[in-house]
Amino acid sequence: MHKLNDPKLLKNFSYINGCWHSSASDITVNNPATGKLVTKVSNAGTAETELAVKAAKGAFKAWAGKPANERSVLLRKWFDLIVLNQDDLGRILTLEQGKPLAEAKGEIAYGAAFIDWFSEESKRVYGDTIPAPSSDKRIIVIKQPIGVVAAITPWNFPNAMIARKAAAALAAGCTFVVRPATQTPLSALAMAELAERAGIPAGVFNVVVGDDAHGMGKVLTEHKDVAKFTFTGSTEVGKSLIGQCASTVKKVSMELGGNAPFIVFDDADIDAAVAGALVSKYRNAGQTCVCSNRILVQESVLIEFTEKFVKAVKGLLLGNGLDEGVTIGPMISAQAVADVKRLIDESLSQGAQLALGNSDTGFGESYLAPTVLTGITNDMPIAKNEIFGPVSPIISFKEESEAISIANDTEFGLASYFYSRDIGRIWRVAESLDYGMVGINEGVISNAAAPFGGMKQSGNGREGSKYGLDDYLEIKYLCMGGLDK
Ligand code: NAP
Repeated sequence: MHKLNDPKLLKNFSYINGCWHSSASDITVNNPATGKLVTKVSNAGTAETELAVKAAKGAFKAWAGKPANERSVLLRKWFDLIVLNQDDLGRILTLEQGKPLAEAKGEIAYGAAFIDWFSEESKRVYGDTIPAPSSDKRIIVIKQPIGVVAAITPWNFPNAMIARKAAAALAAGCTFVVRPATQTPLSALAMAELAERAGIPAGVFNVVVGDDAHGMGKVLTEHKDVAKFTFTGSTEVGKSLIGQCASTVKKVSMELGGNAPFIVFDDADIDAAVAGALVSKYRNAGQTCVCSNRILVQESVLIEFTEKFVKAVKGLLLGNGLDEGVTIGPMISAQAVADVKRLIDESLSQGAQLALGNSDTGFGESYLAPTVLTGITNDMPIAKNEIFGPVSPIISFKEESEAISIANDTEFGLASYFYSRDIGRIWRVAESLDYGMVGINEGVISNAAAPFGGMKQSGNGREGSKYGLDDYLEIKYLCMGGLDK
């Protein structure tokens, strides 16, 4: 029905302790491009979430005790199967999330790269020896898996936000329970099917799907057998989940919202800056945490940049992500479109100008035409909030120091970007931006080898890179005494 090479990848049940669990009711998964039903999935709740934690707890000792190279081989098999099924996984992702098929397949490859990366890193959980303060002692540091990891993930990257967490957790020797977003459970369940085929033991990777976000979230954040909680989603929800984790003093990592500045200085290669802004803003219809949220352009190149940028944005092709040539799909829902339209209308009523867009797309209420606004100031709601839609607000500035001050004038600190060819400026600006990630003459910055994460209210912890395992490990210090005798 959905033109999958392997229809068994479309699952309808939660995956707990190596079994597919049905529940009394269903949730519907609809295609944002058409509003039509993709499939129904059994609606799990708090009881199934408890079961999944129990399964992960039961599987922990054996998984943590496996030699790292054996865990590595299993992760590598999982990676191979994901790559082998990239077309189907991409299709499932587009059906439930809406992004263009090429982008969806790109997400599958991106997520898989983290599994590949951490299958290698699992073999490199090195300890330390430290010179002791007295001759009869030795100090040794070992790193051990923290235990059961619970995760909650958003709908904008239904595969990769899980892969980034699960790969590191499993590599470290932890077992894992994830509750994916209600709107996009299918990619998570397809990952579970492939984990099972790869031979990852029962209880190591569990997926519970259900619409009781609050109840299931409470189990995952407050359960005494969950040692670590990892979340990707909005700052607002993240803050409340941190609070819930306090009762059991869990280790927490948070990948939260952003408000990325994209700064174009007068010495930039303007064509490169236009290309970078286009990909950084309009990927996933503007619904990524690292999307440019404010485009800051130096006055002397404002007209040139804006004209070229508007021309480039006009080249995007809006439509159903499964249709050939489409480069920008629907937003996740009609409500999401209405929220972004409100920000556009507020900006226009406060003096901004419409350079492109905000017109009827003719596709339906889940679509928003790519939009460019000029005359924006940093105190407008569109500059203060995470837009999460295909709208570029352009702010002009005079001096470098003014650009930095506008860029940092936000509670967020995830991704930032700037374009310049002056090496002195490049170092000055890179070191002054209060952001966890800085793209310099580059609009796409995330990959498995690099530490992804934010500062300020964008969260804590890092995913990917050699630092990514740390979030799933405990440091244990061994003091060996009595050695002089
Ligand atoms: P969201 O509303 O915070 O939802 C994220 C997840 O949390 C979903 O699974 C949601 O479940 C669940 N949730 C909502 N309320 C909850 C509660 N009270 N208790 C437990 N779980 C709860 O965010 P979103 O709108 O889906 O995602 C967009 C946000 O994610 C943006 O702010 C974006 O910047 C951020 N994001 C950050 C990163 C990063 O790496 N920093 C990456 C991607 C996205 P339901 O689906 O059932 O509502």
